[in-house]
Amino acid sequence: MLPGEEIGARVVVSNLTLAPTFLGLLDESVVGSERTRLVKRFNYDDPQLLSVMYALKGDPEFASAAHDPAIQRSWVGYFGGETLGEMRNAFGELTAGIVPDEVMGGWFIPTRADPSQAPPGCHTAYVWTSVPPCPRRWRASSLDGWDAWPGLAEPLAEAVTERMEQYAPGFRDLVVERHVMTPLNQEMNNPSAVRGNMIGGSAIPEHLSNSIHPYGATHLASGYLAAVEVAEDLGCRDVTWWRAKPLDWFLENLGCIPLNLGVDARWNGNASSPETT
Ligand SMILES: Cc1cc2nc3c(=O)[nH]c(=O)nc-3n(C[C@H](O)[C@H](O)[C@H](O)COP(=O)(O)OP(=O)(O)OC[C@H]3O[C@@H](n4cnc5c(N)ncnc54)[C@H](O)[C@@H]3O)c2cc1C
Repeated sequence: MLPGEEIGARVVVSNLTLAPTFLGLLDESVVGSERTRLVKRFNYDDPQLLSVMYALKGDPEFASAAHDPAIQRSWVGYFGGETLGEMRNAFGELTAGIVPDEVMGGWFIPTRADPSQAPPGCHTAYVWTSVPPCPRRWRASSLDGWDAWPGLAEPLAEAVTERMEQYAPGFRDLVVERHVMTPLNQEMNNPSAVRGNMIGGSAIPEHLSNSIHPYGATHLASGYLAAVEVAEDLGCRDVTWWRAKPLDWFLENLGCIPLNLGVDARWNGNASSPETT
């Protein structure tokens, strides 16, 4: 598209969340003052994820593999929050703007499934924890809300790394490089993710829904549902080229999908365990 060029279309579909679409892409004269007022009050302040991405020179070995080696064949897991009470307490703190003292969250080691993401023998990992977008306190220190992120990113990445070290001793020594993404980085990277909100806005009773139908999650096929709605409205849903049935393909090919391609031979087999290999 050239600067100043104008493109006309019967329908424009926005992939942005509520506020950037109705306050950024459209003018109040189009949206109306009452709707604009409501959109301005839309809330994006639900707890979000802080994520730490690692390049590793080996596969982390979880201490719990001594009890159940299956964890070494898993590419996803969760940690912390040993009781429901601890989890409830942590989420209460998050809603109040407090970063819980104990880091709880989850990890992915995608290279256990797809080793092509790293050089031979090396791995990638992604570890996340929930944080308030505007943190007011962490471990007895007062914080400046949204403005705290540049100073808080590395200390929190360090706390996440320390937590992984507790569950997988030796993890820290495997780290070649790490990169942290805070809610601030998320918003800078994608202005549609206001306050770093990854699901299109807070899922709170006042909203009935966040701004994505049925909810902002990749597995709920929001883009597909939107495309179907638009195509039905425009009378072009029943076309020859729109026949893809990905679930059918998946079910037909399920048995051929290779598993555990990046899992070390030591763990890759029913009988393998640290004691037997
Ligand atoms: C850390 C993290 C973890 C997540 N984990 C999960 C999970 O486990 N399961 C799950 O289902 N979902 C998860 N999500 C949520 C999921 O990623 C989102 O729901 C999904 O990516 C939304 O897709 P989208 O295409 O609707 O919007 P987006 O991916 O937000 O795409 C919007 C695009 O518009 C661009 N853009 C923004 N402003 C403008 C503008 N003014 N003009 C032009 N372009 C613009 C942006 O750069 C972006 O490319 C996670 C998200 C994050 C951040």
